[in-house]
Amino acid sequence: MRSPKVAVVGAGMSGICLGALLLRDGIDDFTIYEKTDDAGGTWRDNTYPGIACDVPSRFYQYTFARNPDWSRVMAPGAEIHAYFDRVSRELGVRSHIRFGTEVAMVAWTGERWLVTSSDGAAEEYDFVVSATGILHHPRYPEIPGLEDFAGSAFHSARWDHSVPLDGARVALIGTGSTGAQIIGNLADRVEKLTVLQRTPHWVMQMKNPETSRFNAWLHRTVPAYDRLTYHGWRLFIESFSPALLHPGPIRRFGSWQIRRQLRKVKDPVLREALTPPTEPMCRRLVISSNFYDAIQKPTVEVVTASIERIEPEGVRTSDGVLHPCDVLVLATGFDAHAYLRPIAMTGPDGTTLEDAWASYPHAYRTVAVPGFPNFFMFMGPNSPVGNYSLVAIAEAQAGYMLDWIRRWQRAEIDSMAPTTQATDAFYDEIAAATPDTVWATGCTSWYLGEAGNLEVFPWAPKRFRALMSEIEDEDFATTPAAR
Ligand code: NAP
Repeated sequence: MRSPKVAVVGAGMSGICLGALLLRDGIDDFTIYEKTDDAGGTWRDNTYPGIACDVPSRFYQYTFARNPDWSRVMAPGAEIHAYFDRVSRELGVRSHIRFGTEVAMVAWTGERWLVTSSDGAAEEYDFVVSATGILHHPRYPEIPGLEDFAGSAFHSARWDHSVPLDGARVALIGTGSTGAQIIGNLADRVEKLTVLQRTPHWVMQMKNPETSRFNAWLHRTVPAYDRLTYHGWRLFIESFSPALLHPGPIRRFGSWQIRRQLRKVKDPVLREALTPPTEPMCRRLVISSNFYDAIQKPTVEVVTASIERIEPEGVRTSDGVLHPCDVLVLATGFDAHAYLRPIAMTGPDGTTLEDAWASYPHAYRTVAVPGFPNFFMFMGPNSPVGNYSLVAIAEAQAGYMLDWIRRWQRAEIDSMAPTTQATDAFYDEIAAATPDTVWATGCTSWYLGEAGNLEVFPWAPKRFRALMSEIEDEDFATTPAAR
């Protein structure tokens, strides 16, 4: 058996997942490049008040490293970060992480990939895997005067914990999943919370109860019960897929349930202001344990006038009103279309990934790109995302990558890449499925690419598992093993 050398870019949930599964397969010649000095990806970056995962934690965890001790149905962010950190240590992944090392260039040498980090160090690998996450480049709004603000201003993914919030006047720009969680946390703490809402989002308010010690004990001591709850939550979440994928009674019922939530808002003027103009679920559904309760607190003001500029004392809106504040929070989202960029990647014939993706980012079955051999992506274009567990997605993608790496180990191949024809055929199928999906009902969101193309998976999770479970040999160009 040959020993493959693997480079993984990013030590977040996906990178740790692959590291653990490589080690489980006895492959230990791998390096995980991590540009910061800590693992955990999005759960390291996002520490804003109120952060929690809106996917139930029993299903937002690795199947090979279950945690019996989740404190709530949907655990807080710090607990999730601690979980990934602990798994990386306990399963021996952490010693493979090269912290503080940003990958700058990846180039095919003719046989292998040469990975060059920003400090100039270069090393060759048989496989390169991008595990850079989707939502990791904060998107800052282009609002005049932002730099003139006299108080503290920061993006939600770069929270400045040295800034006191209790009793402060806070202005919040952005009311997506992040903004909703921040509102839920700050409404009771601050003197005034001014919510600058450009477009209302549909919100599903759900209870997020604490879990009991007995429940933790049961999960720890009865593995079958633990598996049952994992798959129970999985099936529950998957039962919503038809509403996303096809018009019809299930979507209409889901839509009605979500619209009904607005009845929680007593003031008709506020209710009107919080009613989105788009179809429920077209943009990512915001799930919150307390959004509608919090937004009605006397400390909170929802401002729907557009932002004209930021002044040293606060935010000036188009109706001429100045909304004074001490702290300005930008919950304005992320560039979800960057994928592994700005890493400069060059394939065998000199084509760069930038060239290959000139029309829009695309990938064979979400994981591989024609013309880029022995290269895989986690959460690549058209990966299932939305309100599904990305941990489950990462495990399925890792399994697919490992199938190929094992073939290389057994000297069945030296290199593999999907054909352009197979990738085009996959996109023809996506184009055919798109019009039925709720994401094509006329809204803008990060689910759509810059060219208006769908960048999420237009089928049910079951289909995704099927696509990841087997290699279709005729879809690949391979070179036989020479060494
Ligand atoms: P987002 O959904 O992209 O929302 C960004 C918000 O900022 C929107 O309300 C947007 O308004 C507003 N905005 C952006 N630029 C603006 C400007 N110049 N002026 C005024 N408003 C502006 O970002 P996010 O809330 O950070 O969420 C991103 C994704 O992260 C989510 O979709 C979800 O996948 C993930 N997330 C998950 C969880 C979880 O619990 N699992 C929690 C947080 C986030 P418009 O709507 O008008 O564009």
